Amino acid sequence: RNVWRLAKRPVGDIADGDLVYAAEAVPALEEGQFALRVIYLSLDPTNRIWMSDQEQYMPPVVVGAAMRGGVCGRVIESRRDGVAVGDLYAGLGEWADVMVTDGTGMGQLPEIPGVPLAAAFGTLGLVGPTAYFGLLDIGQPKAGETLVVGAAAGGVGQIVGQIGKIMGCKVIGIAGGKAKCDYVVNELGFDACIDYKSQDVGAELDRLAPEGVDINFEQVGGDIMVQVLKRMKLFGRMPLCGLISQYNDVDGADEPGFWTMMLMRRLSVRGFIVTDFAARFGESGQALLGWMLEGKLKTRQDIRPGLANAASAVKELYSGGNFGKLLVEVTPP
Ligand code: NDP
Repeated sequence: RNVWRLAKRPVGDIADGDLVYAAEAVPALEEGQFALRVIYLSLDPTNRIWMSDQEQYMPPVVVGAAMRGGVCGRVIESRRDGVAVGDLYAGLGEWADVMVTDGTGMGQLPEIPGVPLAAAFGTLGLVGPTAYFGLLDIGQPKAGETLVVGAAAGGVGQIVGQIGKIMGCKVIGIAGGKAKCDYVVNELGFDACIDYKSQDVGAELDRLAPEGVDINFEQVGGDIMVQVLKRMKLFGRMPLCGLISQYNDVDGADEPGFWTMMLMRRLSVRGFIVTDFAARFGESGQALLGWMLEGKLKTRQDIRPGLANAASAVKELYSGGNFGKLLVEVTPP
C-alpha cells in the first residue's frame, strides 16, 4: 500500500519532508479487522492541528505514524463479523490507499441513489454536521436575523449559509476572491459576500449590515473575526467553529491563544450585565434572603464612616484595600 506518514511536526506552514510518502506491505489482518480500499480522503484544516502537539481535542498524530484523516472506502477483505467485502465504510482513517481497521471510529456509509459518493461523504461526513449543529444549536438563528460566516465558500461555510437562508436569516459570507463570492451569492443564495482579499471587511459590513450582526459563525479568527465582533449586536451569538488563520502558528513553546483555548475546551462564554435580569430580581431577593435567614449565606461589609472619605475609599477597590462589600456610612443608621 501507499501511505503518508508524519515524519516530523511542522513549524509554521507544512513543509516538504514533514510528511513522507512510501510504499509498504499491507499489515496482515487479525481477527476482528477488515481492510478498506480508500476511495476518498478528506483533507481538513484540522489536519495541521493534529500534526502539532499543541493542546487539542484528540491525541496528536504520533511522529512516525500514518497521518490521520477522514476516509471512505470499500471493504476488500474482512475478518470481522458483520463486515462483508464490498461494504462501504467511512470515518477516521489514514492517508493511505489501503488501510486495516477494527472499525473504531468508522461506520457504514449507505449508498444513496442520486447522490454521488463524493457529495454524500463530503457533505454528510463531517462538514454537514458541523454546520448543522454549530449554527442551529449554538447559533440559535431566528428569521430576520443577520448571520455572518467566513470561509464562506468552503466545506462548512457553504452549508452554514444555506441553512441560514432556510432559517430565514440575512446571510453575509466572507471569502477570498471574486469567484468564491460570486458562487455563494449567485449559486447558493447568500444575500451578499465580502471579498476580504480586495475589500475592506469592516467597511463592507457597515454597508451590508448597518443593523449589526446577530450571529457570527466563526471559522477564521484574526482580524476578520475582530471586524465582525466590532459589529455584533447585544446578545448576539458566536459559534466558535474554527480559527484557520491561526493554525499554522500552533507549534513551538507558545501558549495557545485565548480563542484557541476556548475552542479546544468548548467553553461557553456569555457576557452579561446584572440588569439583564432585572425582571427576576424578586426571585434572587427571595432566595438570597432565605439563605441569609437560614444562616447559609454570610456576608461581610467593610463600612467606612463619613462621606468625606468616599474619594479615598473608592481607590481601595483597585488595590484590595477593602475586605468585603465596601460601603460608606454617610449618616448613622
Ligand atoms: P474550508 O473548505 O473552508 O477550507 C478552508 C478555507 O479557509 C480556505 O479555502 C480559505 O478560504 C479559508 N482560509 C484559509 N486561511 C485563511 C486565512 N488566513 N484567513 C481567512 N480565510 C482563510 O475548510 P472547512 O470547511 O473544512 O473548515 C472551515 C473551518 O471550520 C476551519 O476553521 C475548520 O477548522 C473548522 N471546522 C471545525 C470543526 C469543528 O468541529 N469545530 C469541524 C470542521 C471544520 P478563502 O479562500 O475564502 O480564504
